[in-house]
Amino acid sequence: MSADLHTHTTASDGTFPPTELVEAAHARGITLLAVTDHDTTAGVPEAQAAARRLGVTFLPGVELSAEGAPGKCHLLGLGIDPQHPRLADTLHSLSENRRERNCKMVARLNALGVPLTIEDVLAHAPPGANVGRPHFAAALVALGAVGDTREAFTRYLADDAPGHVEKETLSPAAAIALVHDAGGLCFLAHPGLLRLAEHETHETRVRALVALGLDGIEAYYSSYSPAEEARFLRLAEKLGILVTGGSDFHGANKPDVPLGVVRDGKPLSLECLPTRLRERAVG
Ligand code: AMP
Ligand code: FE
Ligand code: FE
Ligand code: ZN
Repeated sequence: MSADLHTHTTASDGTFPPTELVEAAHARGITLLAVTDHDTTAGVPEAQAAARRLGVTFLPGVELSAEGAPGKCHLLGLGIDPQHPRLADTLHSLSENRRERNCKMVARLNALGVPLTIEDVLAHAPPGANVGRPHFAAALVALGAVGDTREAFTRYLADDAPGHVEKETLSPAAAIALVHDAGGLCFLAHPGLLRLAEHETHETRVRALVALGLDGIEAYYSSYSPAEEARFLRLAEKLGILVTGGSDFHGANKPDVPLGVVRDGKPLSLECLPTRLRERAVG
């Protein structure tokens, strides 16, 4: 009886199609699963159907990229209605923007002497996927322009690298409000990975997000040490907010992160998760 509330499918930058992800989760004894693709819910209906078939309790989710005050972050919406009209409209317009941004990135790479086409990039993404930098990295490797994904990012695709073009993102306030509108609870994803400004601490950042309506933080996460986990659990308790936990499974795109391995190499017990979150699950 374990949970994994942060996973990606081929609808964004994971390598498991939704059905295969749920089957793999079931095989690993995960009884509560959330699918949280980047800025899309396209994988949710298929995953939910597979979960129902296999008897896995399911939370429809999304991971929204947010920028603006109080800082850049990823926000998880859990227990959302994936068909909610305003959520669907917003995600659609973000993906339209991504399409334009991807073409600009191809132009940048061409100007840098890399003969990449948008078709090369799309060949590494399944139809309907939210195409982004991980697919560019795969295409650059296939083209032989770089040796591996790491080099693709350091030379071309990282935030400060010459091939990168910013994508349009929601502000944290807008993302939190959108998740609430769509009926979900909103959590700060992997707070341990935040880039804090000099004047900030995790506590000041989380307090600022709570003031905007944030419901909780991802206190359990695959890359945390036991000390980090304990620190985020204490912070949540101090602020009276909820906690969630997940692996951030991406399949072969993050080969060192196995599905369902959330707590320092171990699974996450359902008991660790708040009732308010568990009761949002379907199936
Ligand atoms: P995009 O949404 O297209 O901007 O791509 C963001 C994704 O690219 C993230 O979710 C990561 O999976 C990946 N990514 C971003 N920066 C790096 C990096 N420096 N090294 C490896 N992967 C990265
Ligand atoms: Fe990702
Ligand atoms: Fe993230
Ligand atoms: Zn993620």
